[in-house]
Parts: sequence; structure tokens; C-alpha cells
Amino acid sequence: MIAVESINKQFAGRRVLDHLSFTVPDGQITALLGANGAGKTTCLRIITGLLRADAGRVRLGGVDVARDPMAARRQLGVVGDREGLYERLTVAEYLTMFARVQGLCGKELDRALQSVREELELDELWQRRTRGFSQGERMKVSLARALVHRPRHLILDEPTRGLDVLAARLLRRTLLRLRQQGTTILFSSHVMSEVSELSDRVLVMAGGRIVGGGSPAELLAHTGCDNLEDAFV
Ligand code: ATP
Repeated sequence: MIAVESINKQFAGRRVLDHLSFTVPDGQITALLGANGAGKTTCLRIITGLLRADAGRVRLGGVDVARDPMAARRQLGVVGDREGLYERLTVAEYLTMFARVQGLCGKELDRALQSVREELELDELWQRRTRGFSQGERMKVSLARALVHRPRHLILDEPTRGLDVLAARLLRRTLLRLRQQGTTILFSSHVMSEVSELSDRVLVMAGGRIVGGGSPAELLAHTGCDNLEDAFV
């Protein structure tokens, strides 16, 4: 489970997260939905340990992210923006490096690499350097990096942004398969159709707080709109 407990965050004296609290239940896909500037990225960056909250606490499977970042990182996969791939390395070298950082070696390492290679259809890219990769190719590599150590929790910030139909479909299929395998997933999105298709639960964020939540169907019933897009514009 991911537990966000009353976190505050200010930038230059402006409060961006305001006593934000929510939980993400084990084995479910939860979507964080909100307009530009609602605080979604800031929240996800705090959960993944990239940013420190001014107050409050985040726990991943019981581990306090700020107190024990190494233990938290072992059970966490993160797909953020798709920049920052090491462009001089081939996909194989890049993923091997990340798998080693996560403590994998020998046969276990080989199995882990083979598994993400198949799962994300990376055969054609495997020996290529990532320089010049398209958004869809970058997404595959970012997701493979996030999954190579089989984390219990996966966090994705607007994962389908900039993807074509095929890449977005591969991503959605992968997330649904991971849920079947018991992975706990939290992602942010503006794409309402994807939120209703993928999520067990939706958390609606505005002004740094959660202002609504429920299953996609419950939210639709509550708002009386035909789809979530109409409900939150
Ligand atoms: P979007 O959907 O546009 O990505 P978001 O919901 O992810 O928006 P955040 O990126 O978390 O929102 O930003 C929330 C607010 O915090 C915005 O007003 C943003 O300008 C501000 N903000 C975020 N990071 C910083 C920073 N490093 N310094 C100053 N202000 C920041």
C-alpha cells in the first residue's frame, strides 16, 4: 500500500500541497486526476523520494520514504519524464546498469533482462543507442527500467503523454497485466478515457488536495455526466 499522510509543500512561499492525504490499496490501479497545476507531479515526486515534503509522511509498504529511501526504492518503479536516458549506452547496457544498481546479478539478472525485453517488445531496440529514440521507444525503455527489479509499487507521471495509439495501447496492456500480477499502481493523467478504462479508483486533485474520489463509475454517477471528461472540465 502507498500511504500519503498530510503532506505539505511550498514553493517560494506558495502552498502547492495542502495537508494532502490518500492511500493507494495493494494490487489496484489508482489514477490521480487534476487540472494543470493541481499538484500531481509534486505529489508523485515526493512519493518517489525525488523531492522532500515540508511536513507529513509517505509510506510505501510500511517503509517511510524519507527515513529509509534505499528500502523504499527497492520496492518502487518510477516512470517520470522520458528524458535522461544515457544516450551513449545501448538499451541492453542501460537496463543492465539499472538492474545491477538494484542488486541483480548472474542468472537472476539475465532472467530479469529477458523478461522486460519480451514484455515490452524490445527486440529491435535492444542493441541500439537511445539517442534519437521516439517518445514511444523512450516510454518502452523507461518502463523496462522501472520494472526490471519487479517492484511491488509502480508510479507513472502522465505515462501516455505524447504517445501514438500503438505505444499507448502497449502501455495500457502492460499496466493491466501488472495489476493481475499484484503490482500496486499509481498514475497521473489528463486523459479521461484512459483513467476510466484503467483505474479501479480515481482521486480528483485540485489546489493541492483531494477533492473527490471513487471508482470511475461512482464518479460518473455522482457528477451525472456521460464521461469523466465532461465531469471535470
Ligand atoms: P500539470 O498537469 O500541468 O503537470 P500538476 O498537477 O502536475 O500540473 P505540479 O507540476 O505539481 O502540478 O505543479 C503544481 C504547482 O507548483 C504549479 O503551480 C507549479 O508551477 C508549481 N511548482 C512545481 N514545481 C515547482 C518548482 N520547482 N518551483 C516553483 N514552483 C513549482
